[in-house]
Amino acid sequence: MTVRVRIAPAPSGSIHVGTARTALYNWLFARQSGGVFMLRVEDTDPSRVVEEHYKTIQDDLLWLGLEWDEGPGVGGPYEPYLQSERLDIYKDATDKLVELGVLYRCYCTPEELAAKRKAAMEAKKPPRYDRRCLQLSDREESQFESEGRPFVMRIRTPDEGTTSFTDMVTGEVSFDNQELDDVVVVRSDGRPLYRLAASVDDGIMRITHVIRGLDLQSSTPHQIIMLEALGYEVPLYAHIPLVSGPGGRPLSKRFGGESVQTFRELGYLPETMMNYLALLGWGLADQTIIGRDELIQKFEISNVHASPANLDPDRLDWMNGEYIRGLDELDLAERLMPWLAKAGLVSETESDEQKKLVKAITPLVQTRIDRLDKAADQVRGIFTDPDIDPMAAERGLKDEYVAELLDKTAQKIGSLEDWSRDSIEAALRDIQTEMGLKPRKAFVPFYVAVHGSTVGAPIFESIELIGKEKFLQRLEKARALVS
Ligand code: GLU
Repeated sequence: MTVRVRIAPAPSGSIHVGTARTALYNWLFARQSGGVFMLRVEDTDPSRVVEEHYKTIQDDLLWLGLEWDEGPGVGGPYEPYLQSERLDIYKDATDKLVELGVLYRCYCTPEELAAKRKAAMEAKKPPRYDRRCLQLSDREESQFESEGRPFVMRIRTPDEGTTSFTDMVTGEVSFDNQELDDVVVVRSDGRPLYRLAASVDDGIMRITHVIRGLDLQSSTPHQIIMLEALGYEVPLYAHIPLVSGPGGRPLSKRFGGESVQTFRELGYLPETMMNYLALLGWGLADQTIIGRDELIQKFEISNVHASPANLDPDRLDWMNGEYIRGLDELDLAERLMPWLAKAGLVSETESDEQKKLVKAITPLVQTRIDRLDKAADQVRGIFTDPDIDPMAAERGLKDEYVAELLDKTAQKIGSLEDWSRDSIEAALRDIQTEMGLKPRKAFVPFYVAVHGSTVGAPIFESIELIGKEKFLQRLEKARALVS
């Protein structure tokens, strides 16, 4: 049997991290078994569709490295993969399910339903549909029809027995059929709702394993009922617990968002996200850094934890730092480019000179940043003549020895012949020794002069990169701030 799995997002915005992790688990499962990973877009509900987000969700998946084998753009044997283009298929399935007595029309108005719900709540009963429309007389029904009264389709759940399945993550799950609600699966405008569209497609598209969020486990019995009625093979299910923030709190607090886009914009690498998301709910006892190929090899869906996963920003930062340090220098330089452009340090279409400079600063930041967005602050002074931060001036330039230090340095640097990192260091250390200063005292003023801040990329390299002339100008500028 060829494994066939799918991810089924709505085009409503950038993919939520929980969905991204679901996509990853599906993808890993397909890749390790030589199966098929499908992208199917859930766009039958116009209120959840934003035109530009068809592209967003695809960009998100591709950024994460989760290329699909069937779906938009690549096609496949079960086209189309946009549910909005499959309405005829759902209509056929609906007709068939009505014929089989699995679906029935419900003419109840929203007001009637609200009143029923209220009454049920007051009687402390679960707010299940009371099946009023299952008992319509022929006369009532033809009356409604002649009035042109709108109706929805409900699923007629069995009166007795249980609907059970073995969940690959949560184990045996059993629903008492009496407890199942006759939920609406087709809206009054004829459009299918999630449960119907997803199960019809899972059947037609020969999905073998449904790996999805635990919030959807309660829709599984209805889906199994429809799949079985239509004569499709029922897939195996794996419902994975949801993702929350540190300590189980909601996610958005620190990130200001919960989507793939958020993480991308914060300067996390896709490699980090893949590794991190994989570990969010699954793991190996003795290993944290697990790259793509190894994940494909070692991931086990049956070992996904049944308890909720908490996203921990500090751990994510740490892991991202590890991945940044592990990158090839040229690769990192390429990836830094857009971030430096965004910060206004290089132009969008970098010149050769800028490229060379980016290459030169890459090893300086590689060990010092844990997110790509943090690089610009480290090297601003190498690309531009930054304003000196008043706080930094207060901390680095106010002491009495600074005037002498800057003057002596300007003099010595002015006559320095060999412009290399090492000779710059030697010159500055000479002055340090001569003046009897501790390194911190001797060098912080240069950070302030060069970077406009007390922190930044390593100072001797930074001075070498800006060149003698500019360094002398920066010394002069700093000197003017020293009384
Ligand atoms: N559209 C659903 C979601 O994004 C997925 C439904 C499914 O996987 O069955 O959560």
